[in-house]
Amino acid sequence: MFDSDTASDDSIAILYAHKKFRVEAVTIVSGNVSFEHQVRNALFTLEYFGFDTPVYLGSKRPILGLWKTAEEVHGTNGLGGWKYPDPKRKPERGFAPDILVDLSRRYEGELEILAVSPLTNIALAYLKDPGIVERISKVWIMGGAFYQGNTTMSAEFNFWVDPEAAKIVLSAGFDITIVPWEVAVDAATIKDDEWTYILERGTQADKFFIQANKVSREYSKSKGGGGCVQPDSLTVAIANDRRLVLESGMWYADVETCSTARGTMLVDFYSNTGKAPNVEIVRKADRSTFMKTLIEDVLA
Ligand code: CA
Repeated sequence: MFDSDTASDDSIAILYAHKKFRVEAVTIVSGNVSFEHQVRNALFTLEYFGFDTPVYLGSKRPILGLWKTAEEVHGTNGLGGWKYPDPKRKPERGFAPDILVDLSRRYEGELEILAVSPLTNIALAYLKDPGIVERISKVWIMGGAFYQGNTTMSAEFNFWVDPEAAKIVLSAGFDITIVPWEVAVDAATIKDDEWTYILERGTQADKFFIQANKVSREYSKSKGGGGCVQPDSLTVAIANDRRLVLESGMWYADVETCSTARGTMLVDFYSNTGKAPNVEIVRKADRSTFMKTLIEDVLA
């Protein structure tokens, strides 16, 4: 199951996931841009690449807090302002957290969640039926930052949008692997030569990639980055091939919900709390293998 606040990097991760997994559902949650744009982006992305995976609408807001969308990062509509045609398909009936509970029963012990988004839908599914923890085999999360917040001084966007949901999911007992922001910056930034290669090669997927990520690239560069970052695809890539994890550990992690540090991932590296580890956190990923797979396999 692919849970997404569908914008620039999510759309490429949708393609990546469909090339490597059997995707049962794409579910939408509030996050990057307006909910309506995210739904349209998901439907268009699936149509563009010829996938008929059902799309379900999830929570249109975080559980408790207010958040701001990030059009400055992803473009006015989330796909770089690309004026693409209206998708023909509509979302299916059914609320994403309910669908997640249903799928966890149908594919008990087999279903994995690719959560490249705020964790609202997953938290709501868990609150409805805590039994999903035992039925879902794995939750892959793109979220959190060790120290280099991309939204506030210390918080990464997905955890910042819904810190309460992140706190609920991290403490629920799922088998979780987290891919934090810094790991993605290190391993999943599309550098100039890679961008130019994709631009000049010009496959159908390349054209999509450029349109969807051009605003993200400009934004990243305006902040001193090397290019657009693809954290969602990196998370899918790691879920598909664990050998991409060069360094990781099991730690107790929590999420701060108050004041200026709201949404910050807290990691107990030295077991200061005495609490048992609840997540695996990736610290370093294999950039060259990821890029090779993304560019020469997924986009080719
Ligand atoms: Ca995302």
